[in-house]
Amino acid sequence: MKTPKGTRDLLPEETRLFQAIEQRAIDFFGRYGFQEIRTPLFEETSLFIRGIGDETDIVTKEMYRFQTKGGDDLTLRPEMTASVCRAVVQHHLVGKDELLRLLYMGPMFRYERPQAGRYRQFHQLGAEVFGSADPLIDAETIQALIAFLEPYQLPNLTLHLNSVGDETDRPQYLAYLREALTAVRDQLCADCQRRLETNVLRLLDCKNPTCRQQLVALKPISDFWSAENRQHFEAVCNYLAQVGIRFEINPFLVRGLDYYTKTAFELLSGDLGAQSAVMGGGRYDKLLEQIGGSPTPAFGWALGIDRLVTLIRNQGTSPEPATDLFFVFGERAWLDESFALICQLRAQGFSVLYDPRVGSFKSQMKRANKHQARLTAIIGESEYQSKTVTLKDMAKSEQQTLALDQLASYLKEVLAC
Ligand code: ATP
Ligand code: MG
Repeated sequence: MKTPKGTRDLLPEETRLFQAIEQRAIDFFGRYGFQEIRTPLFEETSLFIRGIGDETDIVTKEMYRFQTKGGDDLTLRPEMTASVCRAVVQHHLVGKDELLRLLYMGPMFRYERPQAGRYRQFHQLGAEVFGSADPLIDAETIQALIAFLEPYQLPNLTLHLNSVGDETDRPQYLAYLREALTAVRDQLCADCQRRLETNVLRLLDCKNPTCRQQLVALKPISDFWSAENRQHFEAVCNYLAQVGIRFEINPFLVRGLDYYTKTAFELLSGDLGAQSAVMGGGRYDKLLEQIGGSPTPAFGWALGIDRLVTLIRNQGTSPEPATDLFFVFGERAWLDESFALICQLRAQGFSVLYDPRVGSFKSQMKRANKHQARLTAIIGESEYQSKTVTLKDMAKSEQQTLALDQLASYLKEVLAC
């Protein structure tokens, strides 16, 4: 038996990286006022259709949609913004003039063609801010993300930024697109010919090379921006520049979801091959209304944890050693007598391991190395008789003998630094 196509087991070494990212996210984004929210893995299908848009690839091709025995139409969440918005509306989490920052992380499901960096169950970390239309919030939330990624020192990352406008200027741009692209209709793929009628903006997202060729000559959306939207975009750019964040303005970036208004952005990596997007996001001032809430401006992004982990692993950074202390015994009976001590040390916060087979010293030391133990505690004949333990620092190859009852306080001293 194997994992289903497009899914994988996260083995311990990789899971440690996931845990480190998730733990750091809670601490780091906590400083910006973000609180974690957890929503169900599935929702009513209509939420995603209304939220993400019925002409998007996600909704038309990628949803894990099923009917329950009771006849409900449900879908495994392909992303979480729609779910978070549903929760905000359902529980009245944002009152008038209030600001709410939510963080989420967890698995998402999309029925896609599996390939490197593209899975059917993958993981996202996301941030959403509700209740402010201020461009400072756009900039701050992007800055938080860049600062979060900073310690990973990922090379070749570029921030692509655009404004996709809103109801005041986008209709004019869409009318222009429809006209310009209808003229080259025959050169477009079947999907795009349909999109001409249903959702012309999605054409900019098409990955088909012949369709992409038709896009080169198009006017950018920036030619159509209203004065207000232009001002908003410039303010975001200025705030980002003020904190030293570099970005490229990409006038054809529209993102694969329908709900964006004004700011849209992506972080691309030169080190991920075809699947170059590490994350994406933007402003979505109309989404809450669209799913039945009161008008609430919002901004957010989602980061692909799997792709971030790939980048970190390519860097060759390996997580911290896992074991503080590894016990080595001359005889099995001495392990049995030490069982209570081992449990006590663990209760005091130390990671403690041993080899229950208690073989030769050599094989036990080998195991200690395999577990990357910082210290080994050796109890041989003379230590057993004198109720002492010989502690060996594995990195420095230094050793010393101390009384068993001093072990805990000694560990506290050396392992703290
Ligand atoms: P792509 O263009 O790669 O399909 P997307 O625009 O569909 O990405 P979003 O919906 O914006 O992606 O999701 C945000 C992030 O989640 C992506 O930038 C990516 O890192 C990650 N992601 C999306 N789909 C997958 C997947 N199938 N497998 C792994 N990671 C994914
Ligand atoms: Mg996609």
